[in-house]
Amino acid sequence: MIKVAKFGGSSLSEAAQFKKVRQIIDADPTRQYVVVSAAGKRGKDDHKITDLLYLCHAHIQYSVSFEPIFGMVEDRYREVKDELELSFDLESEFAQIRRNMVKGVGVDYLVSRGEHLTARLMAEYLGYRFVDAKDIIHFQLDGKLDLDKSARALADVAGEGERLVIPGFYGAMPDGEIRVLSRGGSDITGSIVAAIVGADLYENWTDVSGILMADPRIIDNPRRIDRITYSELHELAYMGANVLHEGAIYPVRERGIPIQIRNTNDPDAPGTLIVENCEDEQGALPITGIAGRKDFTVVTIYKNQRTGELSIIRRALEVFEKYAVKVEHIPSGIESFSVVVATEQVQSCIYDIAAEIKAVCDPSDIRIIGGISLIATVGRNMVYKPGMSGRLFAALGDAGVNIRMIAQGSDEINIIVGVENKDFETTIRAIYKTFIGGLT
Ligand code: ASP
Repeated sequence: MIKVAKFGGSSLSEAAQFKKVRQIIDADPTRQYVVVSAAGKRGKDDHKITDLLYLCHAHIQYSVSFEPIFGMVEDRYREVKDELELSFDLESEFAQIRRNMVKGVGVDYLVSRGEHLTARLMAEYLGYRFVDAKDIIHFQLDGKLDLDKSARALADVAGEGERLVIPGFYGAMPDGEIRVLSRGGSDITGSIVAAIVGADLYENWTDVSGILMADPRIIDNPRRIDRITYSELHELAYMGANVLHEGAIYPVRERGIPIQIRNTNDPDAPGTLIVENCEDEQGALPITGIAGRKDFTVVTIYKNQRTGELSIIRRALEVFEKYAVKVEHIPSGIESFSVVVATEQVQSCIYDIAAEIKAVCDPSDIRIIGGISLIATVGRNMVYKPGMSGRLFAALGDAGVNIRMIAQGSDEINIIVGVENKDFETTIRAIYKTFIGGLT
């Protein structure tokens, strides 16, 4: 059994958190590969190290002294080192980073130092070997991951059964230059390492005891999701549930490696297990989760006998494509069809788009409605089950919510409703109450 354990920034924010991580690692010898983020916030008003490093870079660009900000970074690491009585030579690392900053180093190198330093200290603290991500995570010239090269590199540096700490978030371009992933990218590093070493489990340690069925700012004490499939998670993450970096799903999913979301501050809690299929489910809940996003715009194009016209939808979509607007949904009727897009994408071009659609589709009318929220109810147990959407729509009717749009994915694992922004919270509460409220 091999596990890859990735710890997020809040799990590494100070010495006390490092101690929790060591207890977790010591409790299970199969946790052979440890991937770390940069130290995160210690409290609400604190700063993430990565944010401070981005700020240092901005100061350099505007020729303002980076010293006060970089001093904060140094102090955070010195505190961890002193409290854990480590011997790693932080001061030489700081001196090197400073020299590089003065030389005008690239932003990717600079912001990657948070993960680098955290991993250095954690490796010593755990008694694991430090392996630099620049030596094992390799990108191609186009910035995409070179999985084969990365796998060869890890096999070259790691001895059989060796225990390693690897910094997340960055890797190297073909010329050796450091390149970072997108924000939150240590999740992806963990997933890549798990895929390369053929782990049995990828543990993602964070500060919540698993994925919740709904946003706790809207639902009081929502239930935790015990098990979720990759597809369900993808739907929820796309619709705003903020749990795991979307890019972390693919490397492990392709190899059938489950992901477990766990809480460093509550290590006995089982968390949420993400798998390809959930079989054998006794007493499973009717839905898995609810997530939503506000501020969509619906452009509805009316045309008599639209269904007789073969290419009208294509012509309309080409206009959106021309303006580089991503289309979310295309619900359609007999005499009309709608194109749903995120409002921020069309803020400056919606009238140009409407004018062009008029020219190429010759519609009888075009209507544009903004301020729409999309809410997805996701669940593998809804598939082939009659009456699920009936229950959902009845709940919204009872709550006095007018549904402006309905879409259901063809795999039937999600039902999406479009409602006015003002009904966003009411809708989520009504759906939760109908399907989950009262169930224990
Ligand atoms: N430290 C980076 C960030 O703040 C990457 C990560 O935490 O995964 O985005």
